[in-house]
Amino acid sequence: MYAVISDIHGNLEALEAVLRDVPDEVETVYCLGDIIGYGASPNECCDLVREAGMPSISGNHDLAVTDLSTNLAWFNPIAAAAVEWTREQLTEENARFLRGLSRMMQKEGALFVHGSVRDPDEYIINTASASENLAILREQYPNVRVCFFGHTHVKAVAPSPNGPATGSRSLDLGEGGPYLVNPGSVGQPRDGDTFASYVVAEDAREGTRVAYRFVEYDVEKAQARIRAAGLPGMLADRLAHGR
Ligand code: ZN
Repeated sequence: MYAVISDIHGNLEALEAVLRDVPDEVETVYCLGDIIGYGASPNECCDLVREAGMPSISGNHDLAVTDLSTNLAWFNPIAAAAVEWTREQLTEENARFLRGLSRMMQKEGALFVHGSVRDPDEYIINTASASENLAILREQYPNVRVCFFGHTHVKAVAPSPNGPATGSRSLDLGEGGPYLVNPGSVGQPRDGDTFASYVVAEDAREGTRVAYRFVEYDVEKAQARIRAAGLPGMLADRLAHGR
């Protein structure tokens, strides 16, 4: 059994709660990137990911913070302010760790990307982009049954297994596939949920079983530390709304 987490975004309270929630049977926790950016604890989150030995890829925020040539005009003003604040905080050791991450990783039957299969910065936000990426998976990764992606901070499964994915926390992704699965965000959900989410997955002969796990954490503490750090207040406010 393995777990997949994504988009921690420097939210230590959420990351710690998620790691406490991970079932004992889980052998490896895979991280889909955006470990930092927005939240008040970039170094603590990097330390935890490294110390836990999680295989991780990088997200656009990890790269924007650690690559000083990134043009911040691509980011909205609040995100850009967060990138600049995080640059000042991040230790050289953690910057080196983030820079060293690859943009994609694979295990038997599973692929892990930040944004999409064809572009780590693409947002898979509708059925059109999902089917285009599913076609690429079929063609270029015939052995991949499930591709985990993040970046949108929105829980999603495509194509919907036996009806709408939102109806059930546990999904049997049968022999067919491939499937695209977004575990949602640990540190900054944008689908209206205020709790952290991630998935646990198990490979079975009949296919892959994926179960969502929802984790309450101390949102107010994370908010208080964002405000105390002098980060834009909106980054604290949004945690209470999941937007
Ligand atoms: Zn993100």
